[in-house]
Amino acid sequence: MKIMGTLLQHFDCEEALPRLYQFIDEELAAHELEAMRDHLDGCDNCAYEHEVRSKLKNIIREACLEVAPPSLRERVVGRLAELRSPRPEAV
Ligand SMILES: [Zn+2]
Repeated sequence: MKIMGTLLQHFDCEEALPRLYQFIDEELAAHELEAMRDHLDGCDNCAYEHEVRSKLKNIIREACLEVAPPSLRERVVGRLAELRSPRPEAV
């Protein structure tokens, strides 16, 4: 739907999609942020893309914050369990 003569900028999908990451990072100009919100409100496709990408960004951020990778943590926990367990009986 095209609204003529409005001050609010309107993006179509081709304009909105390349700006999704900048939108998530809030690196767009204020009027572009507005236009993005407006577009995502009315476009299921881009709203879905936005959801997926912002979730992905969260996952990556959490992965970077994680100091020890799970495999290392498992090894450490396993080693601790080994140290605590009684010495195996000699056969
Ligand atoms: Zn769209």
